[in-house]
Amino acid sequence: MDPYSLLKVPRTADAAEIKRAYRRLARRFHPDVCGRNMQNIKRFLEIKDAYKFLLTKSQKSISSVCVSADGSTTEPCHGDLRDGSFLFVTLNARDALFGTSIDMEVTDREAYCPKCSGLGRICNNDNSLCPECGGKGYSRVSWSGAGLKVVCNRCNGTGAGTLEQCRLCRGTGKVVLQRRVRVNVPAGTRNGTTLKIPGQGAWDHARKQRSMLFVEVEVDLPESWRIVGKDIVSEMEIDCWTHLGGGYLTFRTIEGTEKVFTAPGELRNGRFVLQGRGWVDENGNRGDHIYILKIIYPSAPCPSSALKYMNMLMEMHWYSGTHKIFITEQDITR
Ligand SMILES: [Zn+2]
Ligand SMILES: [Zn+2]
Repeated sequence: MDPYSLLKVPRTADAAEIKRAYRRLARRFHPDVCGRNMQNIKRFLEIKDAYKFLLTKSQKSISSVCVSADGSTTEPCHGDLRDGSFLFVTLNARDALFGTSIDMEVTDREAYCPKCSGLGRICNNDNSLCPECGGKGYSRVSWSGAGLKVVCNRCNGTGAGTLEQCRLCRGTGKVVLQRRVRVNVPAGTRNGTTLKIPGQGAWDHARKQRSMLFVEVEVDLPESWRIVGKDIVSEMEIDCWTHLGGGYLTFRTIEGTEKVFTAPGELRNGRFVLQGRGWVDENGNRGDHIYILKIIYPSAPCPSSALKYMNMLMEMHWYSGTHKIFITEQDITR
């Protein structure tokens, strides 16, 4: 099937759109969500293949970080996407900024079902014995004068009279093993970064080794937060009184909420900078968190008494005494 229609994206889709589409479909069609039957697994693998294909096509190099095989050390690397296992993880802003370790379940290799030993059928509980071998599970044939044990065909060596389908492997005799991998996410990981971990993906039968594990990181930033360079930029609404007269404001940062006193006039340029509370650059230096202030004006012009009160308030607040700021009707009515 055409990968574009499989992912339900237009042919002009960029990497971000393709990733979004894949995440949406993966959440819906992952076998862990909709049931581990062959049909669901097949559909999910098709979606995953289409994703890999389109993502590689859409971007020559993506932001990638190589993680050592044991997941302990990290370094930047090229974004080539060869065959491997793809997983994605959503991190909160704090974990992405300071780095974290995550345990992930990786689809490993196919193995014989431990419940039915790969037969796909297990003994029924009715205690009946196999009429062919009398419950022994084998029959004895003579071969070159010696007695040879041959596994009974009828009961597959179980000796049971009736067999039922194994529920664990649904009669296929095989299960897909999951393996837990601890992945080190480096500090300052940005949205869309792909972590590459050699030897931790699914078992590659042809190469007789584990393939590359690709972990794509989605950083779940609070709404209206954007990472610009090493800074975080976000917006906040304040009323016109605070804009001009200052006062206590509560800002949300990566570190939590911070209550800051602002002097009259300090917010006049429509922004407030929380230094060292931003994101981080390649060298580990923190940027700033810049709040763009959206000034909310009352729908009607301020009454003159309120204006008088504001000016009085500012005079009281204004500690330096050299830069008195008085507001005019124009300040308030825009
Ligand atoms: Zn089984
Ligand atoms: Zn038998």
